[in-house]
Amino acid sequence: MANKNKDYCSFCGRPASKAGMLLSGIDAQICTSCIKQANEILKENFQAEVQKANKPLELPMPSEIKSFLDQYVIGQDSAKKILSVAVYNHYKRLNHQNQQEKEVELDKSNIIIIGETGTGKTLLAQTIAKMLKVPFAIVDATVLTEAGYVGEDVESILSRLLQACDYKVAEAERGIVFIDEIDKIARKSDNPSITRDVSGEGVQQAMLKLLEGTKVNVPPYGGRKHPEQEMIVVDTKNILFIAGGAFSGIDRKISARLRTNAIGFSTHKNKDEVNRDNLLQYIAPQDLRSYGLIPEIVGRMPVITHLDPLDKNALRRILTEPKNALVKQYECLFKMDGINLKIDDEMLNFVVEKTIEYKLGARGLRSIMETILTDAMYDLPSNKKLKTLKIDRAYAEKQLEQFNFSNFSAE
Ligand code: ADP
Repeated sequence: MANKNKDYCSFCGRPASKAGMLLSGIDAQICTSCIKQANEILKENFQAEVQKANKPLELPMPSEIKSFLDQYVIGQDSAKKILSVAVYNHYKRLNHQNQQEKEVELDKSNIIIIGETGTGKTLLAQTIAKMLKVPFAIVDATVLTEAGYVGEDVESILSRLLQACDYKVAEAERGIVFIDEIDKIARKSDNPSITRDVSGEGVQQAMLKLLEGTKVNVPPYGGRKHPEQEMIVVDTKNILFIAGGAFSGIDRKISARLRTNAIGFSTHKNKDEVNRDNLLQYIAPQDLRSYGLIPEIVGRMPVITHLDPLDKNALRRILTEPKNALVKQYECLFKMDGINLKIDDEMLNFVVEKTIEYKLGARGLRSIMETILTDAMYDLPSNKKLKTLKIDRAYAEKQLEQFNFSNFSAE
């Protein structure tokens, strides 16, 4: 309780005659000795936070990071390898920063992942977040616009990171940010010069300074910066940025680059046959530039990797193999009602066939499973006698027959 007597320190109760000087606030007074003590406490807290953030991190080996990713993400081996190395190097850089004598400065290598929607970009990022010992945030580039326009300022990317570590700045400064849908801020080439490209090139320009490493004023709660707001200064020098995007249509740019004459792809290096079904594997920085990323952004994201489209085999594996595979999730849901769910292999093949037929991508697997199992999930909890439920292809076909796929979309 504040001591409202103006002749005493409200904190230690010392009278003005012994306190030396009393500083008055609205409702209380504080003496110089209490000010000194409070200052010491703040200093100690701050030092403890910095020490914690500077503690050498235990380095998970790249092969350990990849094995962890393998438990949740099917396929995508080259992206997993590249991400594992990037994350490992990120940890090494952080430890290196803390060494006293540094002859060599280690630069960070931000990463860009290109892959069709629903192939596992976000899943990879989320899975990495699960095993990391540094703060991690996922942000969506589509909400960002150039300062002064409706949308969020680019600095709000860092607000998310601060939120992920309870606003401990020193920890946020060594974190990892996944920027989703980076392709949506590509420069629009057909943009008439009289209108400003506020959600494209303008945002890329603003993002540049974050990527290259600088001290940024961050609005603590995201959104728009405004002058009266208190800002938190965050240094982005050690923050690793991973960007992901579908870059739909970029295959045409890749194919145009690979094709130097009208017939075939004969000039591709090694004279290898070019796999036209998966042109993303040949992605190069110049394709990102011709898609509309400014050269400076491409230069700041030197590691480029791609995700493969998911074929029948991959989709089938996604249903059962990952640690939290769909089938395991449904088994768990039914188990909670005391029912053993037994799903037949042929039924799973049918789910995959339908997902491919209707071009739904991996997200469609859940929609189809949900459609097939909804009736069972509705009826069975009230049926106390049933202990085992078998779902076969015939049952699945019947359930899907009633369903209108034109309402379905993979997005
Ligand atoms: P995007 O590439 O659009 O970010 P997501 O990572 O969000 O795609 O994938 C959507 C869903 O599809 C995931 O939640 C996951 O269930 C499933 N999925 C996609 N790709 C894979 C994969 N390679 N391995 C396992 N599941 C996957």
